[in-house]
Amino acid sequence: MPVPEVNAFIPIQDIGGISGKTSRGRTYTRRSVLERLSERVNFLGPVPGHNPSLGSCWVWTGGLNKGGYATILGEESRSSELIHRVSFRLHHGPIQDGLVIDHLCRNRACCNPSHLRQVSHRENILCGTGASARQSRKTHCKRGHEFTPDNTIIKAATKRNPLGTRRCLECQRAEGRSRYSGDGRASYLEYRRKLHEKIKARKNA
Ligand SMILES: [Zn+2]
Ligand SMILES: [Zn+2]
Repeated sequence: MPVPEVNAFIPIQDIGGISGKTSRGRTYTRRSVLERLSERVNFLGPVPGHNPSLGSCWVWTGGLNKGGYATILGEESRSSELIHRVSFRLHHGPIQDGLVIDHLCRNRACCNPSHLRQVSHRENILCGTGASARQSRKTHCKRGHEFTPDNTIIKAATKRNPLGTRRCLECQRAEGRSRYSGDGRASYLEYRRKLHEKIKARKNA
């Protein structure tokens, strides 16, 4: 990845400011999003520790939202937009439908276009540092069995687990067997008894 030599936005197109009339008949003008963005970005931000060759992040100096992202009023819309999306569009063109912008630098407040790429939502999660990403990088289950295709049960994606989850077949079998012998059997029967009680209580409620 080439390190940009110029610390400034070099948009592929200049999207001018807009002017118009408010509902009360006042005229207003809004400067271009590029102008407003440039003013509030520090082009000599930190260099990402995990990948110094990326060069400096271009960091928003204003406030950040709860997720750590920065927003700005977009060029046409009246609502605010994430600055890294605006910056991506200014430099690389429109963002494809259904794709999200991934920060190679992992700095959410950064809008350096060379740190941004568009990826699918799934890819974005896999490249991240979140729980799903960590989980999916594991090659063995918690008891040390390898996740080979034969030994892996894939569970469907849910809202909480957007990538779906993997289950170790060997562990699942062991759990199944323990239901039919010794202590495992006793605790399994106890679990079933409680479950039935719960269901009954719910029905009577
Ligand atoms: Zn960055
Ligand atoms: Zn296992």
